[in-house]
Amino acid sequence: MRTFTGIKASSGLAKGEVYLKKKDKIEVDYTKIDAVRVELEIERLEKTRQQVKRQLEEIKEKTACKVGVEEAAIFQAHLLLLDDPELIPAVKEKIRKDKFCAEFAVSKVIEGYQEIFRAMEDEYIKARMADLEDVKNRILRALSGTAETCGMLTKPVVLVAEDLSPSETAMLDLQYVKGMVTEKGSHVSHTAILARSLGIPAVVGAGEGLLAGLKEGEIVIVDGDNGKVIFAPGETVLQEYEQKIKQEEKWRTGLSRYRELETRTKDGKRVKVAGNAGGVKDVDRIIEQGGEGIGLYRTEFIFLDRRDPPSEEEQFEIYREALEKIYPREVVIRTLDIGGDKSVKCVDLPLEENPFLGYRGIRNYLDSSEIYRPQLRALIRASVYGNLKIMFPMISTLEEIRRIKAAVKEVTEMLREEEIAFTPHLELGIMIEVPSAALMAREMADEVDFFSIGSNDLIQYTMAADRINPKVSCLHSPYHPSVLRIIKMAVDAAHERRIWAGFCGEAASDLLLVPFLLGIGLDEFSVSAGAILPLKEAIAGWDSQRASELAKNILEMSTGEQVKEYLLKVAVIKR
Ligand code: PEP
Ligand code: MG
Repeated sequence: MRTFTGIKASSGLAKGEVYLKKKDKIEVDYTKIDAVRVELEIERLEKTRQQVKRQLEEIKEKTACKVGVEEAAIFQAHLLLLDDPELIPAVKEKIRKDKFCAEFAVSKVIEGYQEIFRAMEDEYIKARMADLEDVKNRILRALSGTAETCGMLTKPVVLVAEDLSPSETAMLDLQYVKGMVTEKGSHVSHTAILARSLGIPAVVGAGEGLLAGLKEGEIVIVDGDNGKVIFAPGETVLQEYEQKIKQEEKWRTGLSRYRELETRTKDGKRVKVAGNAGGVKDVDRIIEQGGEGIGLYRTEFIFLDRRDPPSEEEQFEIYREALEKIYPREVVIRTLDIGGDKSVKCVDLPLEENPFLGYRGIRNYLDSSEIYRPQLRALIRASVYGNLKIMFPMISTLEEIRRIKAAVKEVTEMLREEEIAFTPHLELGIMIEVPSAALMAREMADEVDFFSIGSNDLIQYTMAADRINPKVSCLHSPYHPSVLRIIKMAVDAAHERRIWAGFCGEAASDLLLVPFLLGIGLDEFSVSAGAILPLKEAIAGWDSQRASELAKNILEMSTGEQVKEYLLKVAVIKR
């Protein structure tokens, strides 16, 4: 029996046979060519580029269909690399000047770019490194006629790999993947994101040594709840997990009874459980999982990995589709939220020393009428097709809210003049993600129709702890009393001023926090599709009076540890 501990990337338990995904070995031809072959070699490269583009188009379509548009966007990025005005011309130049064969030239040029990127700290740039590697391998494989060795799954397995590239995961027949384990990777790596969105239990970053001595076909247990991986488990451990897996299956089957139910606490208090979406595929999953609306529709993915921003028309169709699909339930669509760790190629933002404290969210949005005008026009036009609410991110001052309202007014007047239909008096809300917004929540509540707490950012700004830096992940905790008090402050202010308060950060799906959030009177939880049913069940198990007493006790506590211990003690988590 060999046990490894890694990062909890996607919750749940799985047991199965190991399928080891080895890195494809590509033999690169390092020969030089005669001058007479130069043009032929360039032609061969160009043909390969076209062939790879067709492959990528196909994979993109397949991924959009099977997994979702956000996941498919990565292949759009690869397509853009193949059309990059510098990349392929640089390879051709290398063939011409140095008489390298196409394979040699592709490797040399891309490795040169990778060398430059490697020296940079930026997470986004690092992600681009992986894209370059993927594109390089794809071109080299096509040049040498080597097939990709993945996707041959014919029975259920647990996938084990050093790391998985987007292309590799796209080639897999995911219906057979019961669990995923990788040696490398972080909570935000491609494998982790994919596993969460598909509800596949996963542990990533399980560390060196994971693959050593691994036998294809041996039994492995993936414990995504505790970040544990057990290879060749002993009889007792195996039986213990088999029992747990059975219980989990039973529990999951039982959850389906909440699908059609309106969420209420034991004593009948209505609380809404909505879903977080990044694209239309998520909307389908939210409906399938019994979501009572969409509490956060992130629009960043529509802008991702493309050279020009999406047009008003393109956006209009996307928003309209979401609104129509989930009608009559409500959809909160958030305006473009870039900057910080999120960058999109089609909007040029300056490089900053402290991007999380810089030109992010509403701060750059309102400065760019070429971005906000088409988006607001598309949203407001789409309003007649469903129940739309518009939400604005990263608000830190009242002036920003006033500017938002002026922008909405400007756009509505334009539409009225053009005699284009829209729903008047749309609800406008803001995300509470910055402590200054929570501290000024009463005044802010007078200006808007709802709040939604974005704990991912609110915690990072309250605790001054980067949300993506594993070194300070202990500080980025939703249990800290300062975080809980600031959340309470925002919810209280909303209710005092008679508007509703939702919660759409990751912590909304933490079942331990349910009594606290119910106890302070939260009106709506918004979580990823896979978390909807467990949350509906958890809420139904609490009495709102008891939850409010517990919340009072929690608000008296002075450390995060104390809060977590208390929540664990009172928890009624069923699985
Ligand atoms: C948040 O900050 O909690 C949030 C939901 O926004 P995002 O994660 O997109 O920054
Ligand atoms: Mg945020």
